[in-house]
Amino acid sequence: MTATIIDGKAFAAMVRAQVAEHVARLKAEHGLTPGLAVVLVGEDPASEVYVRSKGKQTVEAGMASFEHKLPADTSEQELLSLVEKLNADPEVHGILVQLPLPSHLNSDLIINAIDPAKDVDGFHISNVGLLGTGQKSMVPCTPLGCLMLLRDHLGSLSGLNAVVVGRSNIVGKPMAQLLLGDSCTVTIAHSRTKDLPEVCRRADILVAAVGRPEMVKGDWVKPGATVIDVGINRIALGDKTKLVGDVDFASAVTVAGAITPVPGGVGPMTIACLLANTLTACCRANGLPEPTGLTA
Ligand code: NDP
Repeated sequence: MTATIIDGKAFAAMVRAQVAEHVARLKAEHGLTPGLAVVLVGEDPASEVYVRSKGKQTVEAGMASFEHKLPADTSEQELLSLVEKLNADPEVHGILVQLPLPSHLNSDLIINAIDPAKDVDGFHISNVGLLGTGQKSMVPCTPLGCLMLLRDHLGSLSGLNAVVVGRSNIVGKPMAQLLLGDSCTVTIAHSRTKDLPEVCRRADILVAAVGRPEMVKGDWVKPGATVIDVGINRIALGDKTKLVGDVDFASAVTVAGAITPVPGGVGPMTIACLLANTLTACCRANGLPEPTGLTA
């Protein structure tokens, strides 16, 4: 058996097109332009690439992009002042502070200073609590992207056994909450889980968010399961490097019913969902109906 390859790149393009269409309508009918502010502190090359890509896709979707690049030695007070300014700016509907922050800055303090209604990353403690209690919230982009791919591929997720490997606040935990919200029976596995292969083999939906290259092998996968690989790992391949996921694609593709590739699976969904969240935030801020299919 060879699994269906879930094309996250194509799906993300569809989400972005849907966002752009809604943004154009907001402009024409209400004179509104959703705005996303991205704050980058320091010069981490990977973060710079990611922030550039966010800015480009924001503008392509017809939204306003505000980039704030601050030096690595920015003080907590300076960063908090900027967040306060963005909270008060009516042209800014979404605020994203790029993580990781330099170590002298308290990420929790900064993230929790963002207005929860503008917290398009969904990391503010209020949004975490709202998601955990099944209330309307801002949903973290990567797990939201995974949920969209799963719903598109499987339709209803109700009653399915889902195993999420990884319990980070950014991916694992919100992913598990979303799957629970869609009535899956959810197991969260982590580095202390006993007999991880056996736990994974129970999954109809297997989400790997670990950060360990090709850890999940084909014989950990239940035949016909849907496998979502969140991992992004760069490994050496001769004198070059190659991007691989947390799942050993070559062996898993022969067992799974469907699988996301790396690259081209979950990765492109993250920025698409960031744009979707910014649009949602703009609609909520203005008391307008939210776009359908772009939230949890
Ligand atoms: P974290 O390092 O924050 O969390 C990793 C999790 O994996 C932890 O809960 C850890 O368990 C668990 N883990 C580590 N080793 C093992 C093991 N041997 N067996 C079982 N569980 C293990 O990573 P993130 O959640 O931030 O990211 C996970 C992956 O997803 C990374 O590859 C990252 O690059 C990628 N990513 C991709 C995104 C995208 O846009 N596609 C966005 C965000 C992340 P414990 O808690 O016990 O230590």
